[in-house]
Amino acid sequence: MQTSLDRLAERGVTLGEIAALVLDLQKPYVPGLELPECQESVETVLGKREVAHALLTGIAMDEMAEQHRLPEPLQAIVLRDDPLFGIDEILALSVVNIYGSIGFTNFGYLDKLKPGVVGRVDRMHDEHRCNTFLDDLIAAVAAAAAARIAHHHRME
Ligand code: MG
Repeated sequence: MQTSLDRLAERGVTLGEIAALVLDLQKPYVPGLELPECQESVETVLGKREVAHALLTGIAMDEMAEQHRLPEPLQAIVLRDDPLFGIDEILALSVVNIYGSIGFTNFGYLDKLKPGVVGRVDRMHDEHRCNTFLDDLIAAVAAAAAARIAHHHRME
């Protein structure tokens, strides 16, 4: 899990920012929910092997695009964040549903409105900086962490 957090930090994203998304998503449904519980949920999600692998893969693709090391036509497609590419969303979907379909709804919401760090990362994009995969992956991790909290509080 430390690797995932380290890689996120290298790309300018903190655990606290992702946890803030989770809090916004779940606060209306879980009275008394606070940031530390959201942070813990994000850490648990990041600790899952399949999530870590998705994150490492997506970040590697973004970095290789920045370094112009991808073969064409992939290089141009990833670097310009072509909306018809779609593989960034597909990779993120492998993270979204690990705690059931609530994650899918949460992801759709974050992907459409791009609140907080999702929007910040999405806008941080030029010929030197590529976040084609990162914004979707952050939204997916937050969506899954929020779904996990929803299930926990339903069980209580
Ligand atoms: Mg994207």
